[in-house]
Amino acid sequence: MKKILAWCGLLLGLGACGTTYVLPDIDETSATRAKSMFAEAQTATSRKQASPATAERRFRRVVSRVEPVAEKFCEAETASLNNFDCDVQVAIDRKLDERNAYFTYLNDKPAIFMTLPILQDMRNDDEVAFVLSHEYGHLIGRHIQKQQQQAMAGAIILGALTAYSNAQAASAGISYDPDSVARNTELGAAAGSMAYSQTYELESDTLGARIAAVSGYDPVKGAQYFARPEDARTEAGNLSFWGTHPPDEKRLATVLAVSAQIEAKQDLQRKQ
Ligand SMILES: [Zn+2]
Repeated sequence: MKKILAWCGLLLGLGACGTTYVLPDIDETSATRAKSMFAEAQTATSRKQASPATAERRFRRVVSRVEPVAEKFCEAETASLNNFDCDVQVAIDRKLDERNAYFTYLNDKPAIFMTLPILQDMRNDDEVAFVLSHEYGHLIGRHIQKQQQQAMAGAIILGALTAYSNAQAASAGISYDPDSVARNTELGAAAGSMAYSQTYELESDTLGARIAAVSGYDPVKGAQYFARPEDARTEAGNLSFWGTHPPDEKRLATVLAVSAQIEAKQDLQRKQ
């Protein structure tokens, strides 16, 4: 972990790390509420599964409300960027038989997929809306592009450092491993792409909370889906949805703080 943080220090110098959006300051009230909400969610045991037909109807209903809001939000946020594509294909991934939701690029076009098992597992429309809005956050935050830059920067830096130390060893007559440059270049790429992914999660939560709220959903209720006590790995040994989206109090506290900001703004507008 320390190594990754050190890496990010180096990468930050190259402008590859960090968020574009300011994460909210977490006030005392949000932190305390998040703590008790998280503890409560962690004790939840019974899980009712919706039928595939019900889950699919819920998905269509939520997408029809979230998609236009998210697209407008994306266009406004990326107006200064050349040809940024906000036209996202939102669909059910019917091939994957596990609970998952993810953002990706398909033939260079942005796409968000949710699986039927995750939709069947969700308790209400707010959870579907928040997870969907969170995935839009990964698009608007340009996280895939940033991770690619970080991987490249990490590979270049560690590869160059290794080549330099090998050259020094050679000139001092000390033996060195000739394969180490290639190996460490790969290592650098992996460290670079992993760096700060938690920050990206929080940035997506921040953006997602705003999109879900404007779409008419309750982001705090929705974000509780992440807080369930679940394994980080699936039975097949892959990272589960909770492995790539580690549940913690900070996540809930961030969403609570953003909601408080939205409510304060609405109060102000009402008074004007
Ligand atoms: Zn995420």
